[in-house]
Amino acid sequence: MTICYVLGDELYLNLTNRCTNRCEFCVRDTDGGIADGLDLWLDREPTVSEIKEDIRRFDPSRYREVVFCGYGEPTMRFDDLIEVAKFIKEQYGSKIRINTNGHANRIMGRDVTSELSGLVDTISISLNAKNREEYEKLCHCDYAEEGFDEMLDFAEKCKAYVPNVVMSVVDVISKEDIEACRKIAEDLGITFRAREMIQ
Ligand code: SF4
Repeated sequence: MTICYVLGDELYLNLTNRCTNRCEFCVRDTDGGIADGLDLWLDREPTVSEIKEDIRRFDPSRYREVVFCGYGEPTMRFDDLIEVAKFIKEQYGSKIRINTNGHANRIMGRDVTSELSGLVDTISISLNAKNREEYEKLCHCDYAEEGFDEMLDFAEKCKAYVPNVVMSVVDVISKEDIEACRKIAEDLGITFRAREMIQ
């Protein structure tokens, strides 16, 4: 079971394979792992104790940043994520980033953004599309088109609690659509990033 894995000088955490989206470009649907052939499929989700044990083994102080990522949406386990983030901050003082689809408030049924305060240094939110219709076409969300609204609302709320909020798209959409997405992020006062699709 791969919980911690390394990409470049960052330590990644694989908490869950579950997600509220089924994006067309998701690495879960491509062959092989994303980290040097690592298999990130989990037979079962690791417990918080198992996650902490693996983190100790890797030693976050050796890395520039610790990233809650996937295969999957890390905030599907939001409370566990917060417990693990507290452990990392207290024990190692590492920078922490979450890569997310921005559905945490809907998943948890409450506004969780204040709980990120003091723990999460960067949150990278997948914007993915220029409007709710295009989002649904690309992401096939459990909340249908409302997934787009949830994500935007989450991003806006994060600004009060997370020092570095980023919205991103994968370059599978047209240049025009990327520019439309850039404008959405900029209008929200949020940093924008277009990233390459992982093959
Ligand atoms: S939000 Fe991320 S993990 Fe979920 S389906 Fe899309 S790309 Fe995959």
